Order: sequence, then structure tokens, then C-alpha cells
Amino acid sequence: MNDLPQTTSADFKLILAIVTRARADIEFMAKVDPIDFGLDMEYTHHIIPLDLQQLLDADGGNFAHDVCGIFNHFNRDTRQMDDFFLPRFSKPEPPKLYISVVKMGRLADGHQGGHGVVRHAMDAAIYHGFGSHQKALCATKPGRRSVGFVHDEGVDEITCKQCQHKIEMYGWQLKQ
Ligand SMILES: [Zn+2]
Repeated sequence: MNDLPQTTSADFKLILAIVTRARADIEFMAKVDPIDFGLDMEYTHHIIPLDLQQLLDADGGNFAHDVCGIFNHFNRDTRQMDDFFLPRFSKPEPPKLYISVVKMGRLADGHQGGHGVVRHAMDAAIYHGFGSHQKALCATKPGRRSVGFVHDEGVDEITCKQCQHKIEMYGWQLKQ
């Protein structure tokens, strides 16, 4: 593991306290390498933000659920959580919002691709107006000579299958 997640010193202190409590309270955790487990906690907090203070203060059952769950399900190779384990003390995240965009052709030939256009979904937070060159959810990007993506006011439909798949998989919601 080379690139360590960025952890604030306040979070790091809480993680240390959680590791210390886990080793004191939970028998098998006492045999676990505290540095490895501390890293598991840091990576988990990085991919699934945790309410570390609440976890530290939790009663025995809830504390053990999250601590043992993270130890057992956090995958050090992929740095993802296996089996969709979700800690009880994860902070709920607001749903991500998308808008519908289409690729514009080149300005030079005035082509806007009126028929049969593929409507992709784009993270509403990165769309900066007419001519966005950011990636759609499916990772497609306008060509270098294209004007870019454009959102047609009032058109919310998505026709790109891969974008639709991402929307479902990650629970994106349409920006109203
Ligand atoms: Zn797409």
C-alpha cells in the first residue's frame, strides 16, 4: 500500500482510540496487528465516511459489529468493502445528482446531431454549462474538436445504456 488516504489528525486520533478499544474489548482483535487494522479503518473511512466519535462511543454490540465487520470485509487488495458490508456508523451521503447531456458536433459545420443522439448522464456538479468537456457517467467524452456536451433545458431522458446502468447501480438521482 503506497498512497495512504488523507486522514485529519482529529480523525486519526479517533481511529487510534477505536483500535485500542477493539483490542481491549474484543478477544480476537487483540491478536490482530494494530497497524494493519488501523490502516483498514483509515481506508474504510476514506471510501465510506464514518462517524468515528459515535463508533468509539457505541455500546459493545454495535461497536463489535462495525469493528469486526470492517476487519472481516475490508479487502486490502482492492481497497473496497467486500460483500457490500456497510458499517452502522457510516455517515449517510446525499444522493448524487445527474443531468441529461448530448454531445455537440463541431461549430464549424453547424452540425448538432439532431436525430438519433445518445443522451448521456453527467454529474450535475461538474457540468459547467454549454460545451462541457467533462466525462459522462459512462466515461465517454466529447472529441477534441467537438464543441462539448450540452444539456437541453427540460430534457431529462437518458438513452445511453451504460449511463443508465451507473445511475441504477450507484443510486444517482435526476437534478430537478
Ligand atoms: Zn453514457
